[in-house]
Amino acid sequence: MRIRDISKYKADNLYDVCIIGSGPAGLTLCAELIHSGLKICVLESGDKRPNPQINTLREVINIGEIKIKISSRERILGGTSTTWTGLSAPLDEIDMEQRDYLSYPSHWPIKLSDLKPYYERASDYGFPDLNKFKSVELIKIRQTGDFILESSILTEKNFIAADPPWNFGKQLYSIFDNKNIDLYLDATVINLSSKKESDNITRISTANVTNSFGSKTNIKAKIFVLATGGLESVRLLLLSKETNPQGLGNETDQVGRYLMNHPKGNFGRLNFKKPVKSLPYLFGYLNQGWSGYTGLRLNEDFQKQQKILNSYLRFEPIFPWTDNQGVWNMIMIVKRLKSLLQWWKHQQTQLVELRDWNETGDDQEDSTGKKLDFNWLKAIQTIIKELPAVGSYIRYRLFPQKPVKIKTVRLRNFMEMEPRPENRLSLSDQLDRNGLALPSVNLNTSDLDHRSLIELHRVFKEEMSLKQIGKVETTLTETKPWPINTEASHHLGGTRMGKDPNTSVVDNNLKIHTVSNLYICSGSVFPTSGCANPTYTICALAIKLADHLKKNYSPLKS
Ligand SMILES: Cc1cc2nc3c(=O)[nH]c(=O)nc-3n(C[C@H](O)[C@H](O)[C@H](O)COP(=O)(O)OP(=O)(O)OC[C@H]3O[C@@H](n4cnc5c(N)ncnc54)[C@H](O)[C@@H]3O)c2cc1C
Repeated sequence: MRIRDISKYKADNLYDVCIIGSGPAGLTLCAELIHSGLKICVLESGDKRPNPQINTLREVINIGEIKIKISSRERILGGTSTTWTGLSAPLDEIDMEQRDYLSYPSHWPIKLSDLKPYYERASDYGFPDLNKFKSVELIKIRQTGDFILESSILTEKNFIAADPPWNFGKQLYSIFDNKNIDLYLDATVINLSSKKESDNITRISTANVTNSFGSKTNIKAKIFVLATGGLESVRLLLLSKETNPQGLGNETDQVGRYLMNHPKGNFGRLNFKKPVKSLPYLFGYLNQGWSGYTGLRLNEDFQKQQKILNSYLRFEPIFPWTDNQGVWNMIMIVKRLKSLLQWWKHQQTQLVELRDWNETGDDQEDSTGKKLDFNWLKAIQTIIKELPAVGSYIRYRLFPQKPVKIKTVRLRNFMEMEPRPENRLSLSDQLDRNGLALPSVNLNTSDLDHRSLIELHRVFKEEMSLKQIGKVETTLTETKPWPINTEASHHLGGTRMGKDPNTSVVDNNLKIHTVSNLYICSGSVFPTSGCANPTYTICALAIKLADHLKKNYSPLKS
């Protein structure tokens, strides 16, 4: 295992490729380069286990409506894949197209068909095969349950997660057995040193690194890749001021702008006309090592006609025990007893219908987005106090043949955000423990963001009534302030991809327009966000980048 300490780095050690960050993006890229002959180092700020000192580096100063949660990023080997849920879906066609009704022209410089081969290859990294999204098993799950929702305006979008989701640090740890690849842990890059190659082009010479004991070193490479997550990739450019006081690649004041997220939250209800016993496709399921659910969005022609964005909603069935603290603690205990949970799951040969939304999804927070703390003693006390609810949950979980009837689902909303330059990450006056400016995030929803979800609720209400499924209660139009404002831990935009350096930061190959040897591989390169969870696309882009590097760079002669 080639795990290195930055204090032992020798100044004559030159790497071909220096990958900064070991989350899904950095490690997918590294794994794809393993047989390239390129000499690679991975610089990871965190350790193999969570380190409280290093974790303070995650802090963000929030000045807008959408507040970045500290738990939305992890400083550890494997990055945020150590806590994520693994839900995946490809972007939709409309997400990547030119939509004239966006306030600022924003579209991807590549098409969905260009990304498809890379989505396919992402199945090597724990993501579903693209065919899985329209597979026979999924069609069977759709046909299971009390009714099938047929609508010409509402379109289904499937979200699928490997169960358990991949922890990239564990799954890909063996890549560091390779003699060409070095891993540096507790190696926080504080900035990048650069020199002018010509009037318009800069070249990076070193990544300047510190560890938690204060040792410092400068690591040399021919090519550098920032894979430090959506926010830190932007921040590192702004912190690197040697050749431009505005930050690396920021000649046209684009770095940090057009930040996006997928604001989410519960709002609205559907009261079924006839109570529902089973609806795994829309309520959520576990099936042969995969979990998933289906969301509803508006079809793309209708979106274009109405000039709106691609937001979606999903059903969250209300069971008699929903939101009961005893049941929540019970589910958290079972999730912590991972081997017991995996054993139970492996016993299930048939489709398992979810019995509480906490069984999957963002279980670190309550329905308002507040992070919930888990404590074993308190958990057991709460379970005892709430025994009747816990008892009925366990009964229905273990004996699914006697299902409870669902009268109501609450609507869980996930918004696409319009890319706007004023949604921005800049450097604050406050410093982190390394003396570096903390990121300051100003992120607000727009009228178009609101109108798009309001329209989805309106159509959904009409369709549910027309098809006699039930009555929708929603007061989204009247509710002020805008109620869907919890960030989804999806940090997108800030160094967007495009052809024109006046309106973007990186090109089609993820190279910064004005830097000859610096690439960015993170959600920050997204020109628009769509509504899909982003890691599948981030890893597809990492594979695309690996192909580009293999084609264009040859290994150093040792
Ligand atoms: C609770 C939760 C649930 C989620 N669920 C989903 C989901 O279901 N589906 C989905 O697609 N996404 C989900 N996400 C988001 C997902 O985790 C991220 O999209 C994904 O991890 C991004 O990968 P990345 O490699 O770009 O960044 P990260 O995983 O954040 O990795 C970045 C790495 O860079 C390192 N780093 C940062 N700064 C420095 C520095 N200065 N020097 C050196 N190293 C540095 C970090 O320590 C980290 O290891 C979830 C996130 C959370 C918090």
